[in-house]
Amino acid sequence: LAHSLDHLAELPAETADGHRVHLLVNTGLMADVTRSLERGAEGVGLFRTEVPFLLRDRFPSEEEQREIYREQLEAFAPMPVTMRTLDVGGDKALAYFPIEETNPFLGWRGIRVTLDHPEIFLAQVRAMMKASQGLNNLRIMLPMISGLNELEAARKLIERAYRELLEEDYEIEMPPLGVMVEVPSAIYQIRELAERADFISVGSNDLTQYLLAVDRNNSRVANIYHALHPAVLRALQEIVSTAHAEGTRVGICGELAGEPGGALLLVAMGYDMLSMNATNLPRVKATLRAVRQADTKLLLQQVIQMDCAEEIEHTVGAFLHKIG
Ligand code: PEP
Ligand code: MG
Repeated sequence: LAHSLDHLAELPAETADGHRVHLLVNTGLMADVTRSLERGAEGVGLFRTEVPFLLRDRFPSEEEQREIYREQLEAFAPMPVTMRTLDVGGDKALAYFPIEETNPFLGWRGIRVTLDHPEIFLAQVRAMMKASQGLNNLRIMLPMISGLNELEAARKLIERAYRELLEEDYEIEMPPLGVMVEVPSAIYQIRELAERADFISVGSNDLTQYLLAVDRNNSRVANIYHALHPAVLRALQEIVSTAHAEGTRVGICGELAGEPGGALLLVAMGYDMLSMNATNLPRVKATLRAVRQADTKLLLQQVIQMDCAEEIEHTVGAFLHKIG
């Protein structure tokens, strides 16, 4: 596959039997953008807005944020740019906003922080929506949602910001609002979440961490962190089929989407959008173009019955080897 990667950017991301998938990128800096466009990305599935926050020594003002967001939205327009609201806490610490906890991954992180600090949230979503004026390719996504109340509280704030901007004479549209599924409780509320959100995006890095109770950054337990664990695969399948039954589109923006073997299984399950680091995009596209979705479904049927992650990894590896 390697020699043909350069010519791939123009070709559609579809399987040999014509199943179309959308390949998007994860970004955090403007530096990611050119590379993403060259590689044929169909938009941004995850803009990690905390990255520009991490590079500063104080919170960026609403106007500074607007400029950062405008650059991203302009670079990809008319393709969609999915901006995740600030996801700090856990492993992502802002020096100027210290959070000291003994158990940070189960603590104050993601949407929990911004709902407790509506002024931070409002400034951010105002900046995003201002930046989208005239482009209308913004999508807003909420991290670490564990229940419906958080979605509704966030939506209220976004609607308030939107109304205020209309009063200030901005000509903008209300952006689609999506929920990240990365806390296990969201799996069991997926029907209601899919009913109320405009889209769903699975954060498989955190979802794997929380399902298996394995710290994603602890090398001592790295050998038991398996994104292809049978329990994770079953959860991933449940999420997409339940959300699709509600008519809601589902993407995934964790590292699994950027691994050829993971991408095969996700396509088998019916994921509509795979969002990944731009580096991985050509390889994933080449892999998908080389297989039939029907065959990925057979592979999925086979591995979802297996008892252990190593066996699944081995079987998926062998399948990949066969297609070259
Ligand atoms: C995830 O958890 O899978 C994800 C995409 O978000 P992050 O890696 O930024 O936590
Ligand atoms: Mg996450």
